Amino acid sequence: MNIFKRLISFLEIKINTLTGYKYRVNFTSKEVHYLPNKHKNCNLDIMSNYQNVTKNSADYYIHSAGFNGCRWCYTSEDNG
Ligand SMILES: [Zn+2]
Repeated sequence: MNIFKRLISFLEIKINTLTGYKYRVNFTSKEVHYLPNKHKNCNLDIMSNYQNVTKNSADYYIHSAGFNGCRWCYTSEDNG
């Protein structure tokens, strides 16, 4: 991971947090991450198949589409 990519990832998360898109849905692992509480084990930097969404969309994925909360950053919705 080069420094430029890390910087872009950092800024992207800052902007998403400020605009309300605080959740990241990983369609590969079917997990939802909570960006303000991100953990290095989330591996957000190397994620490729994802979308940043609002709370309403995050709730939809978790409660209606079979997704799970991340065990590191979104423990309140982690179902194992
Ligand atoms: Zn996470």
